[in-house]
Amino acid sequence: MEIYGEYDVVVVGGGTSGVAAAISAARAGANTILIERLGTLGGQMNVSGPPGFAYAYMFNPRCEQIIGGIMEETHSRLLKEGHALPHTTPDFRVGYSFSLVDPDYWCLLIFEMMAESNVSLLLHSLAVDVLKEGNAIKGVVVDNYSGRQAVLGKVIIDCTGEGHVSAKAGAPFEQVPKEELEPHTVSFTVDGVDWDKVLKYVRENAAYEFNAMTHPYLNWTQEQIVERIRNVKDITEISNFMGYYSLRDKAAAAGEYHPFSGVGFFIMPRDNGVFQAHFQHSSQVGNADPTNIRDLTYCEAECRKQIRMALKFIKKYMPGFEKSYLTRLCMELRIRESRRIMGDYILRKADVAEARKFPDVIGKSSFSSGAKHVATKDTITYEGIVYPKDGGSYDIPYRCLVPQVIENLLVGGKAISTDRDSYARFLQETMVTGQAAGVAAAVCARKGITPRQLEQDVSELQSILLKQGAILYGTH
Ligand SMILES: Cc1cc2nc3c(=O)[nH]c(=O)nc-3n(C[C@H](O)[C@H](O)[C@H](O)COP(=O)(O)OP(=O)(O)OC[C@H]3O[C@@H](n4cnc5c(N)ncnc54)[C@H](O)[C@@H]3O)c2cc1C
Repeated sequence: MEIYGEYDVVVVGGGTSGVAAAISAARAGANTILIERLGTLGGQMNVSGPPGFAYAYMFNPRCEQIIGGIMEETHSRLLKEGHALPHTTPDFRVGYSFSLVDPDYWCLLIFEMMAESNVSLLLHSLAVDVLKEGNAIKGVVVDNYSGRQAVLGKVIIDCTGEGHVSAKAGAPFEQVPKEELEPHTVSFTVDGVDWDKVLKYVRENAAYEFNAMTHPYLNWTQEQIVERIRNVKDITEISNFMGYYSLRDKAAAAGEYHPFSGVGFFIMPRDNGVFQAHFQHSSQVGNADPTNIRDLTYCEAECRKQIRMALKFIKKYMPGFEKSYLTRLCMELRIRESRRIMGDYILRKADVAEARKFPDVIGKSSFSSGAKHVATKDTITYEGIVYPKDGGSYDIPYRCLVPQVIENLLVGGKAISTDRDSYARFLQETMVTGQAAGVAAAVCARKGITPRQLEQDVSELQSILLKQGAILYGTH
């Protein structure tokens, strides 16, 4: 087979985790290649789901910033260029911070950062197999219009979101039966919204029509929340408009809304102060395994059927959306849940609840554990949900990135080692774990050790991460 090239670090998958892994590995001195099956970068962040860092949880409920590094860098660079909104802190209505960016400018910036960091790109290339010697992975096999090639590397990082490379290599993983998996979604964006009218409706119907989504640590009463919503001056104070319950139920009763998801949208910042509305819950298909091609194909078609209905509903029922028009139908499914690759540590619900700290910390999260999306109009179930105690955050240990059994392999992004409840499924976690995997791989390649051997002493990994702006210490 043709050898495409030989690298210190081979990253497979160019979503949020993969781009962070490639940039951080290259900045840490490794000769790095990023392989992506599409012609663009960003994965679920922009290919299948704008508006950038919605619910970024960059701050814990105590308003301490817990996420830095490459994620913060992309946000702050776009903010300077006018393509992002300032972070909001979790002290109002939604108990979480929002860090919204224009997803298309984010993608353009990522390509610029690849060039700045000297990352080699191999696009339009699907990783279809791995090369192994015993339990050690030596490279990946890619398939593209030039045929099949082998890409060799000292350390391989699986950032495919669904753990495709790790599974091919034989790493143990967990995935719940498809009947229990969270539903998948195709999201879309509309423009032509009369925002004054939207805000008027929100203010007048604050008491029952919108999801307050407050955090228990903040301890806001329902009356306080409603009062606050009534006094909102600007749509950026809300960012996330989930609800429209009475309109949805009225439409459903008239056969004009489907029963598989709720209604709601995020505001999406565009050039010149323009905002669009991004709907990411208005199609949902459950009972589908994203590692099964028949299920995936079914989901894509079914979501689009639901979206046709949702678009008619939006125009007919939602005040301010009468003249709205579709500007962006995301090109593929956004996958909510799939494999979790079992690593040398499995992050568990109790770690989240206790806001546990670990000596091999590589990043933090304040995302709760236990809530799950469902393919019904309720959209999400909060049964068994736990929040990090005292409004704090928990550490993500390096060992969650090191798959059991297989050597020379790291995982970044959604598929890192957690129990089901603590699945690291949000953007900030994927960039944090991707960045850490990239630095770890660079250190291993330079020292000639395996990622598992690096577990013995993570001090250099941590000090490089700190120099790269990551936040590891000093918060609750
Ligand atoms: C409906 C929905 C709503 C969400 N809303 C939010 C939200 O509001 N806020 C938030 O923070 N998070 C949200 N998330 C979660 C967030 O989008 C994901 O956690 C994150 O995008 C996953 O990043 P990743 O890098 O792990 O994977 P991905 O973004 O999926 O990236 C994987 C990349 O690997 C590539 N790839 C896959 N297989 C191969 C292969 N064999 N060879 C080469 N390339 C390959 C893919 O093309 C893709 O580019 C949401 C998710 C869903 C499904």
